[in-house]
Amino acid sequence: MPELMGMRGSEHGVLEFDAVPVAESDLIGEEGQGLEVALRGFLDQSRAAIAQTCVGLAQRALELAIEFASQRVTFGKPIAERQAIQMKLAEMTTAIAAGRHLALDAARRFDAGATITLEAAMAKLHGIEMVGKVTDDALRIFGGRGLTTAYPIERIYRDARTLWFEEGTAEIQKTVIARELLGRSAAATD
Ligand SMILES: Cc1cc2nc3c(=O)[nH]c(=O)nc-3n(C[C@H](O)[C@H](O)[C@H](O)COP(=O)(O)OP(=O)(O)OC[C@H]3O[C@@H](n4cnc5c(N)ncnc54)[C@H](O)[C@@H]3O)c2cc1C
Repeated sequence: MPELMGMRGSEHGVLEFDAVPVAESDLIGEEGQGLEVALRGFLDQSRAAIAQTCVGLAQRALELAIEFASQRVTFGKPIAERQAIQMKLAEMTTAIAAGRHLALDAARRFDAGATITLEAAMAKLHGIEMVGKVTDDALRIFGGRGLTTAYPIERIYRDARTLWFEEGTAEIQKTVIARELLGRSAAATD
């Protein structure tokens, strides 16, 4: 497999199954219901978990941006004292807080035994849009230094982009959310 842009610590590979016999006793769920088992068996929970990853990664990007902005002096004072930078920091922390609430809501509902198809998709959708924007803003605050491997924001920026795809893209989350709103049954678009 070619190397990934981010999350390089995890290996990827392709598994191909061709006419593999499976004993009846090894079936998970009912025959012909594999998609449902996959979707409700782990995908909802995994989407909620990725939403939490988005929050954690974005929070770290914010912390690094605050640290850098407090130290980086241009034209006689730290850039953290510039209103333009403060506006970015305020927007970043607000977006992260919203993501945290959505992720926690999905997790709490799951712990209470509820089906979280809608909540997990909403948390993942917001999480991936949020972490993209927050890491964009963090990199901008770092200026050109942020593009170098000397600063950890470079890696966080790359890692954040892998979260857009794992367990479904934004378009797929929106499809799931709309389907839940409209009361439609699970489609192969998951
Ligand atoms: C870090 C990482 C880890 C991953 N881990 C796994 C894993 O463990 N197991 C696994 O099976 N896969 C894994 N994937 C694959 C991941 O699930 C897919 O990349 C993702 O579902 C998108 O599919 P695709 O790349 O084939 O894009 P495509 O399906 O080709 O989509 C391309 C574009 O078209 C849009 N699109 C596609 N279909 C529709 C539609 N019906 N309506 C509207 N828009 C649409 C998509 O949103 C996207 O923008 C991983 C990917 C990454 C990056």
